[in-house]
Amino acid sequence: ETFEDMCLHANIMKDIAFHEYTNPTPIQAQAMPVALSGRDLLGCAETGSGKTAAFAIPMIQHCLAQPPIRHGDGPLALVLAPTRELAQQIEKEVRAFSRSTDGFKTAIVVGGTHIGEQRSELRSGVQVVVATPGRFIDHLQQGNSSLLRVSYVVLDEADRMLDMGFLPQIKEVMQNLPKKHQTLLFSATMPEEIEALAQEYLTKPVQVKV
Ligand code: AMP
Repeated sequence: ETFEDMCLHANIMKDIAFHEYTNPTPIQAQAMPVALSGRDLLGCAETGSGKTAAFAIPMIQHCLAQPPIRHGDGPLALVLAPTRELAQQIEKEVRAFSRSTDGFKTAIVVGGTHIGEQRSELRSGVQVVVATPGRFIDHLQQGNSSLLRVSYVVLDEADRMLDMGFLPQIKEVMQNLPKKHQTLLFSATMPEEIEALAQEYLTKPVQVKV
């Protein structure tokens, strides 16, 4: 499968070409058609495999099919990642593949940075939030963001998030999503805890392994 076969929005294709991604990596070739079809996905892949674009490009395409975001609206898509560095990398990639799309906004929500700035960014209305779990829950509790419109969720490096003790925050998010949503779970390893998480929160996931 090539990027051309995936029926991506012209603006996204432009950004892919700009980044000189000529062919999808194996995880992209397997995961993107699944993500684009709206199904849940359980992906076993490590950093360096191209997994970020594998979930980010379908996420942008998903957001483009939703009604526009207004001031005060909650996000359409949420990515949870274990660390600030990974979240920053992911947000950079989301911006890279949405740069040709007018009005597409992302927010990064991580610990150790100014909460007030994040608050106004979140409240201004963004399509995508990339966050570490603890800080995102803080914002939810303060009413700065909401899960009301979230219909695309990514749990990236889920094994590391569990190692870091983020299971309660992940559950808090997963249990309060709108009924209709799509979930993509990526993990480098598949211990029992990850399988249990997938069992509980994914619906008939397609499994992809590279
Ligand atoms: P990731 O596993 O998402 O951290 O990506 C690893 C690296 O591969 C990043 O530097 C990406 O920019 C690069 N990359 C991802 N997909 C492709 C692709 N299809 N073609 C070329 N480089 C890619």
